[in-house]
Amino acid sequence: MLGEGILKGLAETARNFAGSFVSKERMTTVEYPEVRLPLPEASRNFPFLVYDGNDWEKGLRCVACQICEKECPPKCIYIEKSKDKKPDYVGKPQIYPAKFDIDISVCMSCQICVEVCPFEAIKMNTEFELATTDRFGGLLLDRHELAKSNEYYHTIHPTEATEVDARLAAEKVKVEAKAKAATQAAATKAAEPASAAAAVPAVAKPAVAPVTQASSPKAAEVNAAPVAATTPAAPKPVAGTGTDGAAPITEAEKKTTSEPAKTTEGEPKA
Ligand code: SF4
Ligand code: SF4
Repeated sequence: MLGEGILKGLAETARNFAGSFVSKERMTTVEYPEVRLPLPEASRNFPFLVYDGNDWEKGLRCVACQICEKECPPKCIYIEKSKDKKPDYVGKPQIYPAKFDIDISVCMSCQICVEVCPFEAIKMNTEFELATTDRFGGLLLDRHELAKSNEYYHTIHPTEATEVDARLAAEKVKVEAKAKAATQAAATKAAEPASAAAAVPAVAKPAVAPVTQASSPKAAEVNAAPVAATTPAAPKPVAGTGTDGAAPITEAEKKTTSEPAKTTEGEPKA
């Protein structure tokens, strides 16, 4: 029939129009801003920086690696690295962003910064009520304005935030196990020399060897001295006693040899 399609279309429109007043599923608008519908989990607007704990400054996950700054297509991220370090979520000392600005008047919500961040430090916010009359001050967000807690991240993207938490927790366990193993290995290595020293017996000092051979004239004297003292000296030969090898002198011979020869008186001396 001619015009049947048009009639069907008008009927559908009329049904939706009437139904939107009585059926809640057909109500597509709300009295904004008094009434606000929850945003879908996958919705996104501009990036924010995630921090853990209660202190936004200490808890920022960002380590100022500047990957997002380099990858951002319209170059609307500006980062300055810190001079010092602070512990990250696994306790490892890391530098942090002393300055982290995003110009959201330039940002095109592409989410590339989120995709390239290796530290789960930057995520997409769902906040859209950002209108301001201050073009520069109002739309150039610094790190304090960008910082949002992990609890807030769970509120806007619960499924994604739970996955991220599980991944970071597993990584933390792995890092802690590695650190523990390294500590144990270092302790074992340090204990090894002590136990090895205890196992090796002490080398006994060689006893002073007795001098068996004169190595010098002085030593010869030292060696010879005791021998001379202990060996009795041979008796000196005495003439007439038989010790010199000759026959011993008799008593008569002794008398004869001891008396002087008699001289005759009146006889002229020869
Ligand atoms: S969402 Fe895209 S444009 Fe915006 S800051 Fe990230 S990388 Fe840059
Ligand atoms: S947000 Fe991520 S990618 Fe960007 S500087 Fe920080 S750690 Fe690096």
